Amino acid sequence: MKGSLKKQSELLKVIENDYCVGCGMCAAKDPNQIKMYLNEYGQYKPKVKNFSGISEIEKICPFTNDKVDEDVIAGELFRETENIKHTDETGFYIDTFVGYTLDEEERLAATSGGLISWLAQYLLKNDLIDYIVCVGPSSEEGKHFEYQIVNSIEALAKCKKSKYYPVEVSSVIPKIRELEGRFLFIGLPCFIKALRKFTRLDPSLNEKIHYTIGLICGHLKTAKYARYLAHHCGVSNESIVNVDFRHKVKGNAAINYAFKVDYMKNNTLKSEQILMKNVWGSSWGNNLFMLKACEYCDDVFSETADITIGDAWLKDYSLDYRGHSLVLNRSNSFKEILEAGISRNEIHLDKITIDEAIESQSAGLRQRRNGLNARLQMHENNQWAPKKRKFATQYNYSFIYKIVQFLRIELCKKSKETFLSQELNGKGLGYFKQKLWVYPFILWAINFPKRLKRKLMNIFKL
Ligand SMILES: Cc1cc2nc3c(=O)[nH]c(=O)nc-3n(C[C@H](O)[C@H](O)[C@H](O)COP(=O)(O)OP(=O)(O)OC[C@H]3O[C@@H](n4cnc5c(N)ncnc54)[C@H](O)[C@@H]3O)c2cc1C
Repeated sequence: MKGSLKKQSELLKVIENDYCVGCGMCAAKDPNQIKMYLNEYGQYKPKVKNFSGISEIEKICPFTNDKVDEDVIAGELFRETENIKHTDETGFYIDTFVGYTLDEEERLAATSGGLISWLAQYLLKNDLIDYIVCVGPSSEEGKHFEYQIVNSIEALAKCKKSKYYPVEVSSVIPKIRELEGRFLFIGLPCFIKALRKFTRLDPSLNEKIHYTIGLICGHLKTAKYARYLAHHCGVSNESIVNVDFRHKVKGNAAINYAFKVDYMKNNTLKSEQILMKNVWGSSWGNNLFMLKACEYCDDVFSETADITIGDAWLKDYSLDYRGHSLVLNRSNSFKEILEAGISRNEIHLDKITIDEAIESQSAGLRQRRNGLNARLQMHENNQWAPKKRKFATQYNYSFIYKIVQFLRIELCKKSKETFLSQELNGKGLGYFKQKLWVYPFILWAINFPKRLKRKLMNIFKL
C-alpha cells in the first residue's frame, strides 16, 4: 500500500528527480509531516515522513504537475486590472521603468538601484503593512542567510542585497499565521508562485499577504557557491562571517561587481574581495552550482508577483556602478506608490518600453525559453519532468545551442559533485579546475565568434 502511494505521489517525483527548489512551502503547510534539511551539496530538500495524506500539500509545490501554473495564477490576479497588458516573456504588466532611490547611501548599500528596499520601507513607514518577509543574515552557525520577518527600518536595512544562496520558508509561514497584521512577501519567482498556490487554498493566509515583490531571476545557487567564491579569496568556510555577492566597485560598470567576504583571522575581522570576472567559470551562463529545478522553470519576471524588480542590464544604464533597478508593475497600488515616490523626490524613474525590459533579460529568457525547449527535447521519454507551459515549444534553438545546453547541464551537475569531492579529499581549487576545465573552454570557444563580432561592432561603433 505504502509503495503504491509513493508511486502516485507527485511530490515524491519532484524530490526523487531533483526538481525540488527547496522553497519549504510544503513543510510550512504540514510541519509534522515534512521537515527541510540542507543536503551534502548545499541545497534544501524536504524529508517526508509519510507520503500518504499529502495530496493537499502537493498542490502548493511550484514544480508538481498540476494545472495551476503561472498563467492561471497571474490570470486570476491581474487579468481584470485596469490598463493591464501582457507578453509571453514578462506575463502581465502595467508599466515598465528603470530607476533608483535618490538616497545615495541607500542606493550604494543595495544590489541594483535599491528599489526593493525603498518600496518595503515606504509600505512600512506609511502604515500600509506591519511586517516584511524577506531574506537577511542568519544567526545559525554555518548558515549565512535565511527568511525572516522584520518590522523595523533598521532590521530591513540588514536584509538588502541579493543572496545567491538557498533559503526556505518552512518556519516563517507558520509565524505569519500566528501574528496579527498585514504582510509584504519578497521572493524569487518560484517562491511567489508557491505562496500563491498556498494562499489559493488558505483564505486566512491570503488575507494577511497584502503585497508581494518578486525578483527577476536567472537561477538559484547552492550554499556551496558562497564557499567556492570565498576559496577564490583564499578564505576557508570555517572563518567566514559574512558574504556579499554584489559588492559595488566604484568606477566599474555595474555588471563588473565583486564578491566580498568578511572573515576572522587571529581574532581580527578581515575582508577580501574578487571581481566576479576573475572567478574561474563564474559566468552565470556556465550554470555552476545551479539548482537543477531552475532548468525546468520558465518564469524569469516573477509573473505572479504584484511588482517585479531586477537589474537594468541595458546599455544606457549598466555603466554606472551605483546600479539601476528594472521595474515591472502589475498593480495599481504599486503604481500609486511609485508616483508618490517621484512626487516626494524619493526615487527617480525613467519609463522604458516593454521591449527594452525584455531585452535587459535576453540572456535569462534565452536560457529559460529557447534553452528549456532544447532541454525538453533532450529529455528521455521515460524520465519524469515537470510539465511546462505550452509556449515553451514555440522558442527555437539551433543545433549548436543544443550542445550549449548539454554542456551547461553537465557543468551544473558536475560542479556540485566535484566541489563536494574537493572538500572531502581536502584538495584545493586546482582539483576543481582540472576536473571541469573542458566545459567552460568549449562554451567559451562556441561563443567566441559572437563575442568578437560584438567587440568589433563596439570598436567601429556600428
Ligand atoms: C538568486 C537570484 C537571481 C537573480 N537573477 C537575476 C537576473 O537574472 N536578472 C536580474 O535582472 N536580476 C536578478 N536578480 C535580482 C537582482 O539581483 C536584484 O535583487 C534586483 O536588482 C533588486 O535590487 P534592489 O537594489 O532593488 O534590491 P535591494 O534593495 O538590495 O533588496 C534586495 C531584496 O531582495 C531580497 N532577497 C535577496 N536575496 C533573496 C533570495 N535569495 N530570495 C528571496 N529574496 C531575496 C532581500 O531580502 C531584499 O529585500 C536575482 C536575484 C537573486 C536573489
